[in-house]
Formats: sequence, structure tokens, C-alpha cells
Amino acid sequence: MSTILFDSGIFGPINSRRFGKSLGLNLLPSDKKLCNYNCVYCECGITDLTDKNYSMTELEPMLTALKERLEANPDELDYITLAGNGEPTLHPYFGEFVAELSDIRNAYAPKCKIALLTNATTIDKMTVKGAIKYIDEVQFKLDAGSQAVFERINKPVGIVNLRDIVEKLSKQTIDVVIQSMFVRGEVNGESINNTSFEEVKQWIGHLNKIEPQRVVMYSLDRDTAYKGLEKIDLKELEVIAQRVRLEVGCEVEVF
Ligand code: SF4
Repeated sequence: MSTILFDSGIFGPINSRRFGKSLGLNLLPSDKKLCNYNCVYCECGITDLTDKNYSMTELEPMLTALKERLEANPDELDYITLAGNGEPTLHPYFGEFVAELSDIRNAYAPKCKIALLTNATTIDKMTVKGAIKYIDEVQFKLDAGSQAVFERINKPVGIVNLRDIVEKLSKQTIDVVIQSMFVRGEVNGESINNTSFEEVKQWIGHLNKIEPQRVVMYSLDRDTAYKGLEKIDLKELEVIAQRVRLEVGCEVEVF
């Protein structure tokens, strides 16, 4: 097995446990991952920002193809999910794209929902703020309780403060869904573990501040950017989920 890149703008549909029949949209390059994190578990491989020789997926042909598809079969999909080869909100025309996507969905397949998977780093950008109001479900990544574990697991490019991310999430006026990946292991001689009692305690502290509508917890399912990681089994995830239900009081899904 190896990590994967989506080689087109539209991928799937897949039968997703989280989103039902879901068509994926990749706004990012088709031959390169583009992200401001470098998560150890990323299924798109390692982030390489030194290679500037890439082009973004063209958005207009993608919207045209999508419109034709929805018009031909309005009930085919449960969700259209913005994900793909990196962080979708880094596309320079993310806001405009989402507004057009929403218009097309409303016109041709009003029952189909739109979802966004984001690492939450750009949510204070005006264009992203404006766009997320068109999206039915925004899932924000939050994998760590402490700054040290955040840096080891998500490896942000540049200086990113976990508390600032939590602060921004706590100020959202939309329903916030938190998605959290749990892993253990050793990467390049560094211990990785966001499952310890103390780390989970700090993560739950962030959840209490954010007050999410729902938390989605999962562990490894595909090959990862870095070797040396261990999948956390469902039983152990359920123990953590129960702590969230009791201490935060929100809905929790474990996959
Ligand atoms: S935020 Fe998502 S795309 Fe970016 S490195 Fe992490 S898992 Fe990969």
C-alpha cells in the first residue's frame, strides 16, 4: 500500500460511513498535496512546499460537470464533500467556488448536502468565513490537547498555536463538528500519542471551550505519510468517547 493523491477534481462517489453516498471534490492540484499541515497520518503523503511547480484544479469545468451530473440524477448523492489533496480552503477562489456550488446544488439537487473537511487554520479569513455559511456540515480537525502533541501529530508549517485554533473554533456561529484522529507510535525517533489520560484531558478541555455540536473520532484506515503508527482499536476509542459524552455532553461518533 502507499499514500494516494486524487488525480481529478471529482472523485467517487464512495459509500462513506460518515456521509452516506458522497462525491468528493478536490480543489487542489491533482499531482501534488497542498497543505499547511503535515500530519503524520496523512493519506496524501508528506507535505512538500519547496516544489512550487504545480497548478490548481480548474474550477469552472468541475462545476459544469457537477451540474450535468446533478441535473441527470438529482437523488444520486447524499453529500458533496470538499476534501482532496490537502486543505481545501487554501484554494485562492475557495469562497467564490463554494457560493457557485451552493447555487448549483440548490437548483439541481436540493436534498444533497455539502460538507467540508478542514484543518481550521483559515477560518478567520474573510473569504472562508463567508463561504462556510453555504456549507451544511463543516468538520474541523482537532487531534491534540497540548501544543507539543499538536506539533508532533499535525506538524504545522510555520508557527501555529493550538490555543489560537481553539479560540477561533469557540467563536464560530455555525454548528461546529470536530473530527479527531487518534494514533500512537514512533515517527523518526519521536513518540506520538494523543490517547494518554492527560492528553485526552486537555483535548476535552478544548472541547468544553468550543462546545461542538458533535465529535467524530476515528483511527487509521489507510496508509500514512510516515511509518511507525499504530491503529487505535474501537474499544479504546469508545472509552475516550464516553469521557467526552460525560464531560462535554455532546454527541460523539466513533468510526
Ligand atoms: S490537514 Fe489533512 S490534508 Fe493536511 S496534512 Fe493533515 S490530514 Fe493531510
